[in-house]
Amino acid sequence: MWRDRSGITAGDVFALLNDGVVHTRAEIGRTTGLSRTAVAARVRQLAESGLVVEDAAAATTGGRPAGRLRVDRAGGVVLAAAIGASRTQLGVCDLAGAVLAETGLDLSTGLGPQAVLTTVAEGLTVLSEKVDRPVRGLGVCLPGPIDVAAGTVVESPLLPGWAGVPIALGFPGLPVLVDNDVNALTLAEHSVRPSVSDLLHVKVSTGIGAGIIAGGVLQRGVRGAAGEIGHNPVADGGGVVCRCGNLDCLEAVASGAALVTALRAKGRDVADVPGVVALVRAGDPEAVAMVRHAGRRIGEVLAVAVNLLNPEVVVFGGDLAEAFEPLLAGVREQVYRRAIVPVSRELSIEQSALGQGAGIAGCAAMALAEVLSPRAIDAALATPR
Ligand SMILES: [Zn+2]
Repeated sequence: MWRDRSGITAGDVFALLNDGVVHTRAEIGRTTGLSRTAVAARVRQLAESGLVVEDAAAATTGGRPAGRLRVDRAGGVVLAAAIGASRTQLGVCDLAGAVLAETGLDLSTGLGPQAVLTTVAEGLTVLSEKVDRPVRGLGVCLPGPIDVAAGTVVESPLLPGWAGVPIALGFPGLPVLVDNDVNALTLAEHSVRPSVSDLLHVKVSTGIGAGIIAGGVLQRGVRGAAGEIGHNPVADGGGVVCRCGNLDCLEAVASGAALVTALRAKGRDVADVPGVVALVRAGDPEAVAMVRHAGRRIGEVLAVAVNLLNPEVVVFGGDLAEAFEPLLAGVREQVYRRAIVPVSRELSIEQSALGQGAGIAGCAAMALAEVLSPRAIDAALATPR
């Protein structure tokens, strides 16, 4: 690692370039106080590792190199594995998060961690060989509570047999970041709205969960359970027992699974949440009314979160968000009625900008935040390749 009395490492210089704070050697010198030779040494290290390139100068003055420096997005890749209950999305992304290769696998988490992680590792190997660039890290998300620091699943009925298994063991030699699916999706939605510092992401699919960005940072809570708004009860649920054991949880009355059950009871031939969306798109009045009512109930609980956190944007993702118009109508009705005026006036309620690609984007964002940090860049430069 290049660390001298200045304390400014090549990793720090990389971070300044990656954040767009500096673009030339002279700007690096002005911003960091490093001498010209010290700047040159750090830039050389970053260039030799393939992380930074210098574009030819349009015009040079006084014979000094005045080329613009930029992070080479082709200087490596990160891998992404968005593991769902029944379907897994794998991707290879460049250092700016753009997807270079992707694939989907029908894979049940019920097969257990060993079988699933082995299949995921094989799939990622095949994908990354297609791209053939240095792999710098991996982001994995799973549909259950995660101990992020330990990189393990917390005991939960959602992922039986997975508790305590170190996910990284399936991928030796790589920095591996693990989080739950809603947090990964929240990071993905934030990554396409970088100027937004306060954002709520609500996933409405088979279940209901939320992710929170406050002050620009993902909030996980002390046990990784922040955002579990699906288990707040609604006022007029009618006594439905939730899988968590309580009565009238939002998830038990307004999730995609609840709507599938309700529509089947009305004689509709619907098997899953995309089936509900198909009925809405076909204009089935009962399906439209049910989704709108689900939106009202989500809005009832969401209004509390909106008053508490004062977000700029609420993003709806997940399969049921594909029926966005009736869902939004119900949500709006309640949020605007229940949230205080200064909080609701500037609130934007939006549909996911990423749709089905959000899982891969979120896992890539997790991995990039780690592997492009100054500390990780310095560690990578210190490791002979
Ligand atoms: Zn519940």
